[in-house]
Amino acid sequence: SQDRVFNFAAGPATLPENVLQKAESELVNWRNSGMSVMEMSHRGKDFVSIIEKAESDLRTLLNIPSDYAVLFLQGGATTQFASIPLNLCNPNDSVDYIVTGSWGDKAFKEAQKYCKPNVIWSGKSEKYTKIPSFDDLKQNPDAKYLHICANETIHGVEFKDYPTPKNKDGILIADMSSNFCSKPVDVSKFGIIYAGAQKNVGPSGVTIVIIRKDLIGNAQDITPVMLDYKIHAENNSLYNTPPCYGIYMCGLVFEDLVNQGGLVEVEKRNMKKAEILYNAIDGSGGFYRCPVEKSVRSLMNVPFTLEKSELEAELIKEATKEKMVQLKGHRSVGGMRASIYNAMPLAGVEKLVTFMKDFQSRHA
Ligand code: PMP
Repeated sequence: SQDRVFNFAAGPATLPENVLQKAESELVNWRNSGMSVMEMSHRGKDFVSIIEKAESDLRTLLNIPSDYAVLFLQGGATTQFASIPLNLCNPNDSVDYIVTGSWGDKAFKEAQKYCKPNVIWSGKSEKYTKIPSFDDLKQNPDAKYLHICANETIHGVEFKDYPTPKNKDGILIADMSSNFCSKPVDVSKFGIIYAGAQKNVGPSGVTIVIIRKDLIGNAQDITPVMLDYKIHAENNSLYNTPPCYGIYMCGLVFEDLVNQGGLVEVEKRNMKKAEILYNAIDGSGGFYRCPVEKSVRSLMNVPFTLEKSELEAELIKEATKEKMVQLKGHRSVGGMRASIYNAMPLAGVEKLVTFMKDFQSRHA
């Protein structure tokens, strides 16, 4: 609608307008049920049909093999930082973490409470602008799993390929919160993929966990019931009251992505948007700069700085006036960040680039 802005927020983030309109049309009376999805019993046939359809469309999108469970949980990706070691490790087990940004670091720090994690590579000294070369990694053969953050939301660093886990059970785990469903992924390479919904696939409050079924069922005794994958898998994510409305919204987004032609098509659009924006930054003669190494730049989160950093506040102010909002970089790194998730239209990126060129011509 005319009043909507282009929202470049990192999450919660912009959602497809057609999905919001569909939700609006079904808000008060979902498909003649006489009530809103918010008011339904989570065990009634209507809601069960909603969660089953959401799972089935997600399985189609990511081509999820049948030996993987899909769980719709709560607590955000942050809760998974604890759930993963609690479910997969004993307190004395070692695990490997590759730390390519703040989120990988947070995952590592939380794991320290429940097992013995090692950082086998960190990009911190290079300000998190790189992904390591996989050949140089010193993986611990006794580690229970290797953990990565597939896309660092704050630093804009994205794995384009994945390291082969060299631990004894061959388990790779990825936090895909900020690039979930942005491109095809070979799920069979991973033991667990997890993601908070609020960037690419829905509102906050839903956390999606895709887990190989043989990894379920070994939780430490102290594991809270809400963090135990076995409990949630056995109960089809309905052990307790799930975030029903959020799951419904994710389902609408999955359906929309299927209708768009699936993740191959989605990735093409995301590559085009990212290319336009990075080209504008790189072609600005240094007026704008992106610190991330070119080969690992994120298709989702584009951080950049201004050579004249004193102009940042002005740029944000002018962009906001032009209905392009939430361009301020994360408080920990400063600068600017444009998050261009699936639901950011090409027109939004084109408008931003035109604005950035104009801003440069007025302030160079
Ligand atoms: N991992 C990544 C990559 C993230 O971007 C975020 C949120 N910005 C988190 C984890 C934490 O997610 P949540 O707020 O859902 O706990």
